[in-house]
Amino acid sequence: MRPAVRPAMDYDPQNIFAKILRGELPCHKIYEDDRAFAFLDIMPRAPGHALVLPKAPARNLLDISPDDLAHVMKVAQKIAIAAKSVFAADGITLQQFSEAAGGQIVFHLHVHVIPRHDNVALKPPASFKEDPAVLSEQALKLAAALR
Ligand code: 5GP
Repeated sequence: MRPAVRPAMDYDPQNIFAKILRGELPCHKIYEDDRAFAFLDIMPRAPGHALVLPKAPARNLLDISPDDLAHVMKVAQKIAIAAKSVFAADGITLQQFSEAAGGQIVFHLHVHVIPRHDNVALKPPASFKEDPAVLSEQALKLAAALR
């Protein structure tokens, strides 16, 4: 029998991405529709590093509904295609971490979409805080490419 999708642990509505989704904290938004939201990572591992979230309160891969997950992945693909063009990338890396043991730090599901260039390694996680002016300009370009 298939296991039901169920919360691995409780969803905390005070997590930082829930606050961004409610508009209580700012972000460099690049995309929004009725079920998903995307913005730039403030500590990018490469220029153009974006995060795609479901609007539904899912903690991670272990409790998101399959339909919301499928929609997040559709949006991640859209953003990957736009980012490849905007950042003249050679490739794209997707990452998704679930639970602390899986590398998750913020407990609202998100998929990382990271433009990659040949022979350029990712910066270590949380090693560099990007200038907000740079993020604003990148977000405008990506949002325009996604329209
Ligand atoms: P993860 O939970 O997938 O390990 O990592 C969380 C990601 O969120 C990290 O890449 C980190 O740089 C990013 N992050 C943490 N706090 C904020 C924030 O306040 N705004 C934005 N845009 N990104 C954040």
